Amino acid sequence: LLQLSVPLNFIGMLYREIRQGLIDIEQMFDLLSVRPEVEDAADAVPLAVDKGEIVFRDVHFAYDPARPILKGISFTVPAGKTVAVVGPSGAGKSTISRLLYRFYDVQQGVISVDGQDLRQVTQASLRAAIGMVPQDTVLFNDTIAYNIRYGRPDASDTEVETAADIAQVGRAIRDLPQGFNTLVGERGLKLSGGEKQRVAIARTVLKAPPILILDEATSALDTTTEQEIQTALDLVSKNRTTLVIAHRLSTVINADQIIVLRAGEIAERGTHAELLAQNGLYASMWNRQREATEAEEHLRQVRESD
Ligand code: ATP
Repeated sequence: LLQLSVPLNFIGMLYREIRQGLIDIEQMFDLLSVRPEVEDAADAVPLAVDKGEIVFRDVHFAYDPARPILKGISFTVPAGKTVAVVGPSGAGKSTISRLLYRFYDVQQGVISVDGQDLRQVTQASLRAAIGMVPQDTVLFNDTIAYNIRYGRPDASDTEVETAADIAQVGRAIRDLPQGFNTLVGERGLKLSGGEKQRVAIARTVLKAPPILILDEATSALDTTTEQEIQTALDLVSKNRTTLVIAHRLSTVINADQIIVLRAGEIAERGTHAELLAQNGLYASMWNRQREATEAEEHLRQVRESD
């Protein structure tokens, strides 16, 4: 990721930040966007978000010119709606979220928000408009309250707690001896992947951005955690333009549209019911995943009855 052109003092800064555990993905994107290829245009203007419609039009992208990753992707996330991207590992799903956050620029085609080409707006205004719930949130070495409040530093204690409740993690936090004042992160209490993702959701609830990117955790979660996260996501994505990068299929059933990506191209699109009826790639992925889940549940039951 880091190229030789990156100044050494920048690497030093990044190293110190990582060592202090003071980094989370949004910050990391901000830091890495110092990289020369993504710069604000000289005449860049702040993004003016009206309703928050996202359009990808004929988007081509490659990290390495010899190996195209996205090969002409077109889709729209209508304002307030949820579009989920699914597909085999390596298909380019997370790349789509990185391009929307403008971690990289497209090589051909356009990505726009409310009709404004991402390359023509300032990165600061774009990122202020987008709430990103990453796959794996690295927490600050500080209290849970601090970690949630990071979404909006002037939020009151009540707002922080309400955000935690909406994110379905409030009860778990109150059950801790020190509640919201519990220290977390590398040097504090280690939270599980599912808990960290809900802390990230709580942050996003406070930030209340018009656009949301959810890059779902790849790791398998137990059924209860998965349901809690699903509830949290349903609440936070309501009436917000939402792009879900789904590595599991259980979270996409209610999406307004599902895009099935295969080797950098859109193979199928439709609602869950429409795609099942098509009996194509989505339907086979769905059946395979359902069998895997059933097998896991069966194993769990066998183990519990021992
Ligand atoms: P998964 O479900 O496994 O997370 P994905 O569909 O989200 O996969 P991407 O993360 O978008 O896949 O990656 C698409 C391809 O691009 C992969 O083959 C990956 O190896 C490659 N890739 C991803 N990030 C980089 C990078 N920074 N530099 C070079 N290649 C990359």
